[in-house]
Amino acid sequence: MRFTLITIGTLFIMMQTMAQPVKPLIYPVYSGHDLGLNYSPSASSFRVWSPHAEAMELLLYKDGDESAAFRTTNMERSKDGTWFAQLSEDLNGIFYCFRAKFKGKWNKAVPDPYAKAVGVNGKRAQVMDLKNSNPPGWQNDQVNQTPMQPTDAIIYELHIRDASISPNSGIKNKGKYLGLAELGTKSPEGELTGLSHIKDLGVTHVHLLPFFDYNSVDERKGAPVQYNWGYDPLNYNAPEGSYSTDAYNPLTRIKELKQMIMAFHNQGIKVVFDAVYNHTGLTEHSYFNELVPGYYYRHKADGSLSDATACGNETASEKPMMRKFMIESLLYWVKEFHIDGFRFDLMGVHDIATMNLISKELHKINPGILLYGEGWTAGSSPLPDSQRALKKNASELEGTAVFSDDIRDGIKGSVFDIKDRGFATGKPGMEESVKFGIVAALPHPQIDYNQVNYSKKPYAAEPGQVVTYTECHDNNTLWDKIELSCPDVDKGEREKMHKLALTIVLTSQGIPFLHAGTEFFRTKFGVENSYKSPDSINQINWSEKSIHKDLYNYIQQLINLRKAHPALRMHNAKLVYTNIRFSENLPSNVIAYQIDADGTGDKWKRFFIIFNGSPDPHSITLPDGNWKDAFNNGKEYSKETNLESYSSLILYQE
Ligand code: CA
Repeated sequence: MRFTLITIGTLFIMMQTMAQPVKPLIYPVYSGHDLGLNYSPSASSFRVWSPHAEAMELLLYKDGDESAAFRTTNMERSKDGTWFAQLSEDLNGIFYCFRAKFKGKWNKAVPDPYAKAVGVNGKRAQVMDLKNSNPPGWQNDQVNQTPMQPTDAIIYELHIRDASISPNSGIKNKGKYLGLAELGTKSPEGELTGLSHIKDLGVTHVHLLPFFDYNSVDERKGAPVQYNWGYDPLNYNAPEGSYSTDAYNPLTRIKELKQMIMAFHNQGIKVVFDAVYNHTGLTEHSYFNELVPGYYYRHKADGSLSDATACGNETASEKPMMRKFMIESLLYWVKEFHIDGFRFDLMGVHDIATMNLISKELHKINPGILLYGEGWTAGSSPLPDSQRALKKNASELEGTAVFSDDIRDGIKGSVFDIKDRGFATGKPGMEESVKFGIVAALPHPQIDYNQVNYSKKPYAAEPGQVVTYTECHDNNTLWDKIELSCPDVDKGEREKMHKLALTIVLTSQGIPFLHAGTEFFRTKFGVENSYKSPDSINQINWSEKSIHKDLYNYIQQLINLRKAHPALRMHNAKLVYTNIRFSENLPSNVIAYQIDADGTGDKWKRFFIIFNGSPDPHSITLPDGNWKDAFNNGKEYSKETNLESYSSLILYQE
């Protein structure tokens, strides 16, 4: 009855006050492809997406560092949540930022996410004609479009600074992009280093740790020497400045990065970009947040930021404008820098639909592009598991592989337990985990999946969906892991364990992946997480190469063997299923298997591969016929052979 006295309007206000509904903001999607700067000598136009800003300004500066803006332009509201400004003059070389206003307050002036050229420490973007960043010969640097099966790749993971910074690298441009463009460099002992070393080793792809502009290293002249892996993105589309010879000049870092990429291409080596779209290095004041507060991230039910990356935030690839940004950014790196592949950091943060769109778009412009990522996260995410690019969903990923931590730890022991050992370091019971990796996480009738360390069922649908490895930049190096987990084993035996571990990686199906320097027992002196450790820990000590030349020569031969033999890198699941036969009733810690080369195009008829991961010698029965050793000048075997502790044998029949 009493409500009859209240007017409808008042009731409406009361209901609103009582319920206090939080009206979700609507974000229109901009479908154009001109976000950021569009330069010509006669005019520069700028378009920024920020649907809920009250105003947007374009600020122009004479330098990329400290000077005050010399001009401020109000941008106009344009379609689908964008702001637009055009200045009809030649702005080449001028720096710029954008500033958005919310609730009457101006946010910090920042470059937009699409900024391609940035000044020192990535604080401001520059108007630039990208054509001026092409080094001589760049127009002939082909985006290599040769169709390639992912399993034909052999990946070598390297940090740009680590490659050259040691005094014994013989490289002039130490720690720089240009250091990896130098040819014929040698250690004091006369061994090839840097680019020529990688060429000589024979790998097909060099995977470089992040070289987009990251936040952690101060790029200013005279700043204290700093080291970082670079997993803290600031400007996704601009190269890192600390690897260039002049971080103040945005053109220099672009040009020198292209020189490095061209130098690799000239040696027939493809370049993989370590992509970190899963979070931003800055959180509250990230460039995303300054322009579109909150939009690009995932949140928990209580509205706080979710953090599946353990870096303070996680991006939301399922949101249309984040998805669009990732795709356009990746396409830009391929088109402008001729990048041949991408490794996705914590790929499990991204949704499957986005990863498949990325794969589709990238394969369209380069059918041979190599895509792989970490099929896990560093924490829980509000996006349901079923939608995320996790290892267990690998078969749903089209043209993108996942790292197999199953074989990684199966070979050497858990990375989370320093003392834990694996198959190659004498731990019994790890056979199924290694066999799981040998068949590239595919279904195989002779694997007892219940005995596999992590995955209790196969997750790949094709061998090209799995990266086979036993170490990377994370965690202890293989050599350090062996030393820490086998303190009572003498050095000679530990060297045999290391060699056996790498033999398993390079003979398994899937995509093999090596951490730089492992070919001469790289150590980081037991530093498990060296992301900001000094050069003394991280640098590649090139003098070790001459000391361990035997291992180097062996790994080089093994790489050549893999490249020469398609049976060691089969392209489809059916061949792996039918052509691989594991021997049964073997001693503990021994794996032996035959590969029939039928249907693979291999010039050899079959292989018989034996791994003895035990501290004892073992006598192994060979399948019928005469067998030749792929090493040791083709030494012949039949009926039976004896394998010493921690050793392998690769036999074949022609
Ligand atoms: Ca930087």
